[in-house]
Amino acid sequence: METDPEIVARLAREREDENWRFRTFLKMAPLRVSARADRLAEAFGREAEARMDCTTCGACCRDNCVPVIPDEQARLAERLGMTVEAFRQTYVTKDDDGEPAIDATPCPFLEGNRCSVYEDRPEPCRGYPYVGGNLVSRMVGIIERAGTCPIVFDMLERVKDAIGFTRIMPR
Ligand code: SF4
Ligand code: SF4
Repeated sequence: METDPEIVARLAREREDENWRFRTFLKMAPLRVSARADRLAEAFGREAEARMDCTTCGACCRDNCVPVIPDEQARLAERLGMTVEAFRQTYVTKDDDGEPAIDATPCPFLEGNRCSVYEDRPEPCRGYPYVGGNLVSRMVGIIERAGTCPIVFDMLERVKDAIGFTRIMPR
């Protein structure tokens, strides 16, 4: 498994066309094939999570826009000893949909490769990198995340091989 996020970013760029083709392949595949791909993706994703030490990476926290709802803003403000208003003025902007978000690269709460507010981090950070669920409907996000996250990259590469997809790029 490639664990260096810079190498993963390069490899994912090289495989971008292939990954879009894989999306089309899955969309056209019989249901049993896409259902198998879903199961494999979750299993491979969990295996990659177990192998990866996220404290050596932190790539998702360097390149992300994290939605943060009012309850989470209040929780983080309390943790940081700030008023909610001061927290909003300092850290909260709007995402592309106009919703409140922490949109800074890197995230202001990243220290080294670790989250300094880990116990109180927003919900989207807790679910990342989202390896479970329907693969086809999530493929746009997966292809995007494969360029950031070694876990997602590894998962996607393994699913392509396991499902019998003909690659463009050598493994
Ligand atoms: S809040 Fe923590 S986990 Fe979430 S992006 Fe920032 S540093 Fe990463
Ligand atoms: S979830 Fe992915 S991108 Fe984030 S720290 Fe772990 S391996 Fe790196």
